[in-house]
Amino acid sequence: MSSRIRILPENLANRIAAGEVVERPAAVVKELVENSIDAGATDILVEIENGGKRLIRVVDNGSGMSREDALLSLERHATSKLTSDADLAAIATLGFRGEALPSIASVSRMVLASRESSSLEGAEIYSEGGRIVTVKAHGMAVGTSIEVRGLFFNTPARLKFMRSSVTESGHVGELLVRLALSRPDIRFSYICDAKTQFIALPGDLQSRIATFINKDALTDLWPVEYAETGISITGLVGGPSLTRSNSSGLYTYINGRFIRDKVVQHAVIQAYRGVIDKGRFPVLVVFIEIPFSDVDINVHPTKHEVRFREQGKVHDYIFAAIGGVLSRSPWITRTSSSPAKTLYVDNQPAQDRLSGVKDALARYNPAQEKQLSAFTPVSRIPDSSSLLRKDQLPEADVGNNAVGYYSSLAVIGQYKSMYILCQDGADLVLIDQHAAHERIAYQRLRSEHARGGIESQMLLFPETIELSYGEAATLTEHAVRIEGLGFEVEHFGGTTHAIKAVPRLIAATGYLAALREILSELEQLSRSVKAEQMLDSLLARVACHSVVRGNHALTMPEIKALLRQMDETDFAGTCPHGRPVLVKITLPEIEKMFKRSKSAAGE
Ligand code: ADP
Ligand code: MG
Repeated sequence: MSSRIRILPENLANRIAAGEVVERPAAVVKELVENSIDAGATDILVEIENGGKRLIRVVDNGSGMSREDALLSLERHATSKLTSDADLAAIATLGFRGEALPSIASVSRMVLASRESSSLEGAEIYSEGGRIVTVKAHGMAVGTSIEVRGLFFNTPARLKFMRSSVTESGHVGELLVRLALSRPDIRFSYICDAKTQFIALPGDLQSRIATFINKDALTDLWPVEYAETGISITGLVGGPSLTRSNSSGLYTYINGRFIRDKVVQHAVIQAYRGVIDKGRFPVLVVFIEIPFSDVDINVHPTKHEVRFREQGKVHDYIFAAIGGVLSRSPWITRTSSSPAKTLYVDNQPAQDRLSGVKDALARYNPAQEKQLSAFTPVSRIPDSSSLLRKDQLPEADVGNNAVGYYSSLAVIGQYKSMYILCQDGADLVLIDQHAAHERIAYQRLRSEHARGGIESQMLLFPETIELSYGEAATLTEHAVRIEGLGFEVEHFGGTTHAIKAVPRLIAATGYLAALREILSELEQLSRSVKAEQMLDSLLARVACHSVVRGNHALTMPEIKALLRQMDETDFAGTCPHGRPVLVKITLPEIEKMFKRSKSAAGE
């Protein structure tokens, strides 16, 4: 068997980011498991003892190595994955530096055993501190097994940096989760101090997420499928029920590698703005594929950071891909109007639930939007395209041929002149009418703004307002921005200003209070926040003032009109501040309140 592994030429070796790969047990496991994945393994077992300090063992059923290659693999810059500069620009495998095995071997006692399918037996190499001690034949299955004992035994300084066994094994676990999420087709097992932590059977991404992130996540996961020239974005994103207080639920991958990147994270958070509460983080697993030439993953030895050639573009695509799915708030149709499917019983198998979700998705009829057309549910009903634009919306009831989710609800009535009660199949739906109005107003303001300006209304008699020096200064500094919101304010003399025009949406409500709030927001935010974010928050403010607070009795035609408008509104599941517009109480939940048994559901 000829050798596949070569020693990289010096110049190429030097071009690869230098640095220590091996900093802690999890880093060792990462390199070893990535090698197993690169070797085409379908079954990978990781076993550690004492946080990896005593033992790390990775066993795979991949291609294995010949005796010659196994010996070569322990040499610095020996790799079968890269031979020229051109390859470096197109790195498709996870490993590419030919640095991991020798680095790990040099700080441990290592037993490397490997067998190719073409040989009858394997080779076992024992090395100490990087020095090969014995090489012998070894009976074994095809694949590779690497045992690392006494990590850092010969570098006491680094030994000191290791944390407690619990901490280190936690890092190993998290690392394995990242890898396992990226390759649901591979079986992963993790044993820690002789106890099995998990066995992830080969399956799909949904089942991996259920195993590793949240077993109840399946009902609120939504497929992303987005392709633009030079980029594709796929995966599953969580709805508003799946938030976390930190970014630990963000699993993003570039060309198969887990990455933690500011540009990517920012785009994701932006896409969720207004969908989940401020300060909360979503849960998602998203794979970004872009040409190798457009991304440099060679920035940092641990390879979590990347550098994009066109940052802005990548940001926009991720935002569009995820925002496109979220803007349709697909979770509001989670339980559908066909009761047979909607009544989940707790022990119903996850697969069933999933198909329920897929059904709901298929029935869901997203508004058409050119750029964000990447959302393709499993089997989408052809869009009837009968959605009306807001300005075309007739005041009177158009009848029952409306297609959207909100219009499909059977209205029961109004509660406390604040909530609309509806029935969705067997479920009870409560809609916060203020939140709904706010969402409609906000989306409308956003689209007006995007089209060139917010509709403004001249006041018959200009209204005067007294501004403090601070407020007046802010008004001058942000004159263009304030005008863009639909206000026309002139200096009148002294501290007095005259308001001549206001955003039409708030002409009849509290535009004075709105203006003051906007000024104070501008004063506070202008230093800390990006322009677009600021605009959003100002628009939310205007939207907020367009809604009559307190109780507000609605007639049936007004309720119907509101629901119709919600169907035309993106992000219809939440108000601009991220609070829910709609809450659904299922029949089983109601029955539970009345202490009725589940089997009574059909009565
Ligand atoms: P790299 O992965 O960057 O090439 P490594 O030092 O991690 O460098 O590995 C060196 C070489 O050893 C790899 O290129 C590969 O040919 C071989 N190798 C390492 N681990 C395995 C494995 N589990 N199965 C098969 N071949 C392996
Ligand atoms: Mg490697």
